Amino acid sequence: MSDILALARPDIIALQAYSHASWDPTFDRLHANELPWRAETDRSQAGLNRYPEPHPYELAACLAALYGVPAGNLLPGRGSDESIDLVVRAFCRAGVDNVILCPPTFGMYAVAARVQGAAVREVPLRKDRGYSLDTGGVLAACDANTKIVFLCSPNNPTGNAMDAADIEKLLTTLATRALVVVDEAYIEFSGAVSLAGSLAKYPNLIVLRTLSKAFGLAGARVGSLIASRPIIQLLGKVIPPYSIPQLTIEAVLATLAAPQVVIQRERVAQVRAERDRLAAALAGKSSVRKIWPSVSNFLLVDFADPEATLAAARDAKLLIRDMRAAAGALRISVGTPEQNNRLIRSIS
Ligand code: PMP
Repeated sequence: MSDILALARPDIIALQAYSHASWDPTFDRLHANELPWRAETDRSQAGLNRYPEPHPYELAACLAALYGVPAGNLLPGRGSDESIDLVVRAFCRAGVDNVILCPPTFGMYAVAARVQGAAVREVPLRKDRGYSLDTGGVLAACDANTKIVFLCSPNNPTGNAMDAADIEKLLTTLATRALVVVDEAYIEFSGAVSLAGSLAKYPNLIVLRTLSKAFGLAGARVGSLIASRPIIQLLGKVIPPYSIPQLTIEAVLATLAAPQVVIQRERVAQVRAERDRLAAALAGKSSVRKIWPSVSNFLLVDFADPEATLAAARDAKLLIRDMRAAAGALRISVGTPEQNNRLIRSIS
């Protein structure tokens, strides 16, 4: 057994995977209790009367090529939300183990941990240092029952990227003691290099990528968990078969065909330009106290009167996110030029 699997729940290591119906599209399927006819309205390629591929290989290969990793190091799931849940379920014993989070950060890490009955330890980002990681604090918070440290870079809702040297320090120091999950949901907007290229160096590294942000497929629900093969194989037993719907598989394969990828990259460039334009326009508003530097597709902004700003945005038929509880500020996603102009006009 690899060293890193020693961190997993013993009952999950021993778990016998579900034995699903065999997959061979060249045969007619009389083995899965499906209806032999499509619904009249079914416009899919493969037919929605049929189960999708249990662990979709072509999808995994396509995502692996996109992220520059071998297919055996990638597990597709229903968004990063499912990937987060899988890791916590496979590694944390309820009532015994704990995870470490660095707030303010994405809320699902804590929810997934609590659903699993794992304790949540919080080591806040250092607000006075631009929301950077407190690596010493994280290491001090780790004990023998710490299974996962969740890092988010660029971070939601603060918008900044973590220092790569800080992340690597945690990966090295925790080597066989805990997993370090690096959520790179927004990395395309930052232009930074993914840590996925460092898998061979860090067996305790898990990288999360998603098609929900830069690839415009939030509604399709596709995330990728990238890790060493033993981790992928373990989580492959926990994720339900057929978890990625056929319509989603077809949408992703179409969107990741080369010409579409070029279009998506142009859109990312457009979002970055709009982000900077929006930040510059907001900087000139009297109600704006501080705009946190962002390499993501959103801005975290401190307003003098957040309630008034929320109301003004609503009057302009725009929803922005109230992050006062977590970060004392509002979070604004970058929209189309027209939407951004409407927001700029609505703010005094
Ligand atoms: N990670 C971060 C940091 C996020 O902000 C979000 C969505 N807001 C997610 C993951 C969830 O992504 P997905 O749509 O892939 O589940």
